[in-house]
Amino acid sequence: MINKLVGVYGASGFGREVMPIVKQQVGNQATFVFIDDGAQDNELNGFSILNFEQFLNENYDAKEVVIAIADSKIREKLAEKLRLNDIGQLNVFAANSVTLDANEIGDGAVLCPFTMVTSNVKIGKGFHANIYSYVAHDCVIGDYVTFAPNVMCNGNVNIHDHAYIGTGAIIKQGTPDKPLIIGQGAVVGMGAVVTKSVKAGDVVFGVPAKSIKRG
Ligand code: UDP
Repeated sequence: MINKLVGVYGASGFGREVMPIVKQQVGNQATFVFIDDGAQDNELNGFSILNFEQFLNENYDAKEVVIAIADSKIREKLAEKLRLNDIGQLNVFAANSVTLDANEIGDGAVLCPFTMVTSNVKIGKGFHANIYSYVAHDCVIGDYVTFAPNVMCNGNVNIHDHAYIGTGAIIKQGTPDKPLIIGQGAVVGMGAVVTKSVKAGDVVFGVPAKSIKRG
């Protein structure tokens, strides 16, 4: 039998939420640890915390990692470190998450409990959908996009790399010939109702959502 070590990278809030989902998905035959480069403790919720060097030095037949850190730039940096060390990333889908037909989901995705990706959705690398979020039909999501809890992303929306969508935001649907676009690195504040495209790097908030970056 293969002797497998599974690491949840990030021993903080999101890591503690992701660990039980990973454990349920992978099953009891593997060993589970947190990986954290800044942790003061060496144990959390009954699991060991290793730094990355220690994780690399562990003697197992196979190793896999899920990065459970909300900051998308850190996710991208750590994904590159994993790649350079030939360590694969897991896609973690909670048992009660729902994905329907013809979706493409890149490596390192985390679909938390009660999330849904409906049909014909394309998602890049390192996507995080926190609890109760959904992505509807024909959306195109870039790399390292982050959904806080309860994000409602309706159909035909394009979200570019590193955008962050805050808790409870609602994004209006686009159309096939004119998708609503959330630009690269944009931030949508919690509770915002986004009715129009958002420029790259902008920060929007409110109902309807307006830029708070340009005053
Ligand atoms: N961290 C890490 N390596 C890095 C950057 C961050 O191990 O290169 C860890 C950091 O020590 C912290 C966790 O990632 O424990 C991020 O925790 P935070 O509370 O900021 O994020 P969240 O859990 O809310 O996503």
